[in-house]
Amino acid sequence: MMNYDVLVVGAGPVGTTFARYMALKGFKVGVLEKKKEIGVPLQCAGLLGKQIKNVNPLPDELIINQVYGAYLHSPSNNQLKVAKNEPQAYVLDRVGYDKFLAQLAVDAGVDLFLNHRVKDVDIKKGRIYLNNDKGEMSAKVIVGADGYNSLVSEKVSNKSPKNPDRVQAAQFLVKFENNLFDTNYVHLHVRADISPGFLWTIPLSESTARIGLFGISDYHKLNNILKDFLNQNTDFGEYSISKKYYGMIPVYNSKKKIVSNRILLLGDAAAQVKPTTGGGLIMGFKCAKIAADVTSRALDNDNIAILADYESEYQNKFKRELNMQLRVQNIFKKLSDSDLDYMFSKLKEKGAEKIISEYGDMDTQSPLIKELLKTGLLFTILPKILSRRIFSLWK
Ligand SMILES: Cc1cc2nc3c(=O)[nH]c(=O)nc-3n(C[C@H](O)[C@H](O)[C@H](O)COP(=O)(O)OP(=O)(O)OC[C@H]3O[C@@H](n4cnc5c(N)ncnc54)[C@H](O)[C@@H]3O)c2cc1C
Repeated sequence: MMNYDVLVVGAGPVGTTFARYMALKGFKVGVLEKKKEIGVPLQCAGLLGKQIKNVNPLPDELIINQVYGAYLHSPSNNQLKVAKNEPQAYVLDRVGYDKFLAQLAVDAGVDLFLNHRVKDVDIKKGRIYLNNDKGEMSAKVIVGADGYNSLVSEKVSNKSPKNPDRVQAAQFLVKFENNLFDTNYVHLHVRADISPGFLWTIPLSESTARIGLFGISDYHKLNNILKDFLNQNTDFGEYSISKKYYGMIPVYNSKKKIVSNRILLLGDAAAQVKPTTGGGLIMGFKCAKIAADVTSRALDNDNIAILADYESEYQNKFKRELNMQLRVQNIFKKLSDSDLDYMFSKLKEKGAEKIISEYGDMDTQSPLIKELLKTGLLFTILPKILSRRIFSLWK
């Protein structure tokens, strides 16, 4: 039986990043991936905040487009334009990026096993059982980076993968006959029927875009919302849908257990996803760093009890911001289309585009919320009942 210091289940971007960190620290690391090819099918809008460049290597050739800001659209199409002078986000070739990160891990000395589906894990013995007579492997530490439907998470006594907290997402790759887009901007549409999710248009070129949405709804309904969106927008003209994608986004839960015995959970398997945007890459990469530092301490000291530090360090770093995002979402969930329209027209009237442009950030929303509260802007625009609810956030 093959023995490792660390075995990682899942060769997604977060799992391979963690594996690379561990191999660079000198440990013997294996990654087990059920698919034959890394990264496919695409399940991502591929939009990453500019801070990615400080978090993980990103070669320029994998950047399809740079984005300076966004047009935010209310249900009746009141618009707010928020932008900065510098690029704020990158649109990635996400399949290429997953393959690139896997190659970096292999270059660092990681053993990557494609076509190796993990069918069971013994969390006390540190044993992994593989499908199709591929046998067993063992490790001092096992990391579940196996995505939203994580088998390893189930072993850490979280809910069954059949019933975890998650929202659905759908996306089309659309080619338009006319050149429609200013590629410097993405478009985000809010509407009550998918709230607190939203619909996005992310241009890849002047005539091609990823158009998708996430929300608490079934895939069939999301698919129909996307089709209606394309058909009802008179500016779009002729178009063809060249690909359809579907995926799930886990919902962050501060009570989710992410360490047990010799097991850690990481990335989507640990629901390490920003509630407001559904973005999981930057946060997953940051957690991979915390997990690698703690795991190497535990292995160096031959003491797996140290693994518990990963959960506390992660909570200290993210809990406050993410719980705030969840509360903002809970408020958004209760807004009707007319509340949203009212909010947008008032924000525009009061000059909020400038504040949002200055304080808005794809990954961290608390500075913006605090600024809107400080200037009193939220209280003047939201229906009274909502402002009372928001105010209670800061008590
Ligand atoms: C439609 C959509 C749009 C998104 N857009 C963005 C975005 O714009 N920006 C952003 O930051 N995030 C976005 N996300 C979220 C982002 O895609 C995820 O957070 C990210 O993929 C998480 O990476 P991961 O490595 O944790 O898991 P994954 O990428 O899900 O990788 C898990 C891997 O584990 C493998 N695996 C699963 N089970 C087993 C098993 N039993 N044995 C072996 N291997 C197994 C899988 O095959 C997979 O390769 C989006 C998600 C969706 C669905």
